[in-house]
Amino acid sequence: SPRIGVLAIQGDYDAHAVALREAGAEPVLVRKPEQLAGLDGLILPGGESTTFLKFLERDGFLESLRAFVASKPTFGTCAGCILLAREVLRPSQESLGVLNVAVERNAYGRQIDSSIVTAETSLPGGPLEMVYIRAPRIASIGEGVTALADRGGSPVLVEQNHLLAATFHPELSADRRVHRYFVEKVRSFRSASR
Ligand code: GLN
Repeated sequence: SPRIGVLAIQGDYDAHAVALREAGAEPVLVRKPEQLAGLDGLILPGGESTTFLKFLERDGFLESLRAFVASKPTFGTCAGCILLAREVLRPSQESLGVLNVAVERNAYGRQIDSSIVTAETSLPGGPLEMVYIRAPRIASIGEGVTALADRGGSPVLVEQNHLLAATFHPELSADRRVHRYFVEKVRSFRSASR
């Protein structure tokens, strides 16, 4: 089974590890840049993107991540989506800049930025539960990006080649369709690059 890293600096990385295992992958908690070597894919979990950045600015971690996400399947959820984005708005902040979207942090009104919504997505199997926690909003998507789900017209699950990103937390729901979708992506990427 594919070995998929979960950035384990902060945030809910354990829930992602459990979800990955349930979706048929072998999770690897990543705390140092060297641990990225040999992984088939990576999850950047939710948490606080500014805290991630502070940590990643040490030991050349940000540069190693940049190299990884340029060529290997990576799934960013919530703060992880913010890290992947080409542009972060209000206020602007550094990011890996690979996913062709602009995101606004904490952009939903107080009442709805943390909420649970069940809605249709492009994934088969009916409505999906989506847990939002101080969620960012994808303000715009650029070329090469496909929206697989939206909320009030804003994309909440997007895909671009080897990249996947969600503004919600699929690891906090029992439904494993999103993790399975990512694990499939990792598998097909792996066999295509052999
Ligand atoms: N509000 C956080 C940020 O801006 C993201 C919240 C989350 O990951 N649940 O980084």
